[in-house]
Amino acid sequence: MKILIVEDESKTGDYLRQGLVEAGFVADWVQDGLDGLHRGLTEAYDLVILDVMLPGADGWQVLQGLRRAGKDLPVLFLTARDQVDDRVKGLELGADDYLVKPFAFSELLARVRTLLRRGARAREPDVLKVADLELDRPRRRVTRAGRRIDLTAKEFALLELLLRRRGEVLPRSLIASQVWDMNFDSDTNVIEVAVRRLRAKVDEGFTPRLIRTVRGMGYVLEETPWD
Ligand code: CA
Repeated sequence: MKILIVEDESKTGDYLRQGLVEAGFVADWVQDGLDGLHRGLTEAYDLVILDVMLPGADGWQVLQGLRRAGKDLPVLFLTARDQVDDRVKGLELGADDYLVKPFAFSELLARVRTLLRRGARAREPDVLKVADLELDRPRRRVTRAGRRIDLTAKEFALLELLLRRRGEVLPRSLIASQVWDMNFDSDTNVIEVAVRRLRAKVDEGFTPRLIRTVRGMGYVLEETPWD
């Protein structure tokens, strides 16, 4: 995940960049509004953290420039001025969230993670499909060849992950972190059991088989012509 920070105060900018990098993000930091707008328009970021008072162009102009160019990535505003007027103005221009300075880094990180999750969901279709398998996310419903399949919450999350990243071999460690929100360093049995159960529900009695094990690597969901 790549984040752009536009903040003219060196201390804040440096602190943000370091903290985000330590939290596992790729973070670029620029100090001028025009540089920020240029970067936001020419590079692929997942989120922008935007100060309001900036040299070159202010935060509102940067936001407006991004939205006019059709960039719908989440924007988190940092503002020292916590007046209602500023918040309303930012919202009208399409900001996604605010943080009033000074703030705790943990608070910023929580907001960033929420916005990234929301952004990722918004970009995906409501119904994920491969062959005759359909997963309807808002209705939490799965069907295969029109037949309803009942899944547990974990099985649903696992199938959603496999469908979202269809054709990609997903390592067990990635599945563990995304579906169980944990790191399974040694015990991957939980995942094997869950995949086996999911496969029994989704693939048994249907052709083609969609979920396969790639030995020593992980699992992949795809429709292959030779099945
Ligand atoms: Ca500033």
